[in-house]
Amino acid sequence: MKVIAIGGVALSMSAVSKLRRLDKDIEIVVYEKGTVLSYGACGMPYYISDEIKDPERLVARTKEQFSDIDILVHTNHMVTEVFDERNEISVLNFETNEIIIDNYDYLIVGSGASAIVPPWKNFALENIFKLSSYEDSLAIKEKIDSGTIKKVTVVGGGFIGIEMVEAFLTRGLEVTLIEYGNQILGVFDNDMTLKLEKHLVEKGVKLHLGEKVIRFSGDTAVRKVITDKAEYETDLVLISIGVRPNTSFLENSNVILDKGAVVVNKRMQTNISNIYAGGDCGLIYNLAVKENRYIPMGNNANKQGRVIAENIAGGNFEFKGVLGTIVIKVIDMEAAKTGITEKEAKSLALDYKTVVITGKNHAGYYPNPEPITVKIIYKPVSKIIIGAELVGYKDTALRINVFAVAIQKEMTTSELGFLDLAYAPPFAGVWDVIAVAANKVK
Ligand SMILES: Cc1cc2nc3c(=O)[nH]c(=O)nc-3n(C[C@H](O)[C@H](O)[C@H](O)COP(=O)(O)OP(=O)(O)OC[C@H]3O[C@@H](n4cnc5c(N)ncnc54)[C@H](O)[C@@H]3O)c2cc1C
Repeated sequence: MKVIAIGGVALSMSAVSKLRRLDKDIEIVVYEKGTVLSYGACGMPYYISDEIKDPERLVARTKEQFSDIDILVHTNHMVTEVFDERNEISVLNFETNEIIIDNYDYLIVGSGASAIVPPWKNFALENIFKLSSYEDSLAIKEKIDSGTIKKVTVVGGGFIGIEMVEAFLTRGLEVTLIEYGNQILGVFDNDMTLKLEKHLVEKGVKLHLGEKVIRFSGDTAVRKVITDKAEYETDLVLISIGVRPNTSFLENSNVILDKGAVVVNKRMQTNISNIYAGGDCGLIYNLAVKENRYIPMGNNANKQGRVIAENIAGGNFEFKGVLGTIVIKVIDMEAAKTGITEKEAKSLALDYKTVVITGKNHAGYYPNPEPITVKIIYKPVSKIIIGAELVGYKDTALRINVFAVAIQKEMTTSELGFLDLAYAPPFAGVWDVIAVAANKVK
C-alpha cells in the first residue's frame, strides 16, 4: 500500500509520523514545495524578534530524520494536479523543471494556507513582506538585521499582525498598525479588545483603525503606505490581512471545495474516499456553532493528522471538532477566547446573555496582583455556557482551558462556579476569577 502526502508541515507530517508508528510496511512519500519541512510556523514571530536566535530551532524533524523511519520526502516539489479517478498526481520538480506523475492508494492533502496579498498598486516593491512560510521569516529577519529598517507598517491587526507588531517593537523599530475594521483581533468582541488597543498605543504603536490601504509608493523599495485617509512613511511593510487555503491543484479534480477550502467528514475524508485532508487547507467542524468553519490553527492540524493516520491504518476514528479556542500575547497583556462571542451570537440570532467581571490573577494581598477581565456568554434559561473571553496580564490566557472544557461538556454557570478550581495566594483568589464570573449569573 502506498500513501502520498501533499505538504510537509503540521497536518501531513503528524499524519505520516503516526502512520509509520502504526504500520511499518506502508510506503510513504511526501511532496513539499518549500525547502524546509516539519517546522513550527507559530514560532516565526519569535525568530524575527530575535528571542529565538537559530531558525533551525523551529524545525522539529529534518528530511534525513524522516528518511531514517522510511518516509521519503521530496522538498522543492509542488503538486500541480490530482487525478482522483486514476489515483495519480502530477508534481513539478523545481530543481529540474520536470513534471512527474506519481500514484497512490491513499492521498493526504495537507497543503495549508497562504497569506492573502491583494493586487494593491506597487505591492511588488522591495521590503513588502508577508509571513506564511519559513523562507518568509528568514527574509524578514535578514532585512531587519541589515540595520536599514527604522519604520515598519503592519497592515492587518489579526493574530499574525499583532504578534509581528510585538516582534518589531522588540527589535526597537517604530511601528504603525493599520486595520480596516474598527477593532484589532476581530474574532474577539470589541469591548474586550479596547484594553488591548490602549495597551498597544501606550507601548508606542501608531494604531489606525477603520482605515483601508489603497496602494504603496517608492522607487525600488517601499517608502509610503497610502490609505483612504492618510499617507505613512515606512521602510518595510508586513501584509497580514488573512490567509486562504492552498487548493488550486484540486480545482480540476472531483474533490469538493467550499470557498476554496476542502470539505471533509468527521473521519477527515473528502468526498473521494481514499483522499483525506485537514489543517489550514480545509474546513473544520465547529462544535460551538455546530457547522463547518474555516479555523486555520496549528493545534487543530496536528490532531487531525493523527485521525487521518488511524483511519488509513484501518481504524474508525472521528475528529469531534473544535471550539475555536485561541490565545495570544499582546506585549505585556494576554487574551483568549473559546466558543461563541457575543457578536457571533447576535449574527446567529441566538438567545443569549453575557456577564463581564474584572478580578485579580491571584490573592489581592499577595505581591503584584494583576487584573483579568472575564466575559461569559450563556443561554438565558438553561444557563449553559456557550462562549468565554479573557483579557488581562500575567496568568490570564491559559484560564481559557477551563472554559473550553466547560463549553464542550455543556456545563451551566452554577456548575462552573462551584468547580474545584485550585487555590493558593500566589496562583489565584480563594474564588478564582472564573468562578466569580460564573457565580455572578443569577
Ligand atoms: C506567523 C504565524 C504564527 C502562527 N501562530 C499560531 C499559533 O500561535 N497557534 C496556532 O494554533 N496556530 C498558529 N499559526 C497557524 C499554524 O502555523 C497553522 O495552522 C499550521 O501550520 C497549519 O498546518 P498545515 O500543515 O495545515 O499547513 P502549513 O503549515 O501551511 O503547511 C502546508 C505546507 O504545504 C506546502 N504546500 C502547499 N501547496 C503545495 C503543493 N501544491 N505541493 C506541495 N506542497 C505544497 C506548503 O509549502 C507548506 O509548507 C501560525 C501561523 C503563522 C504563519
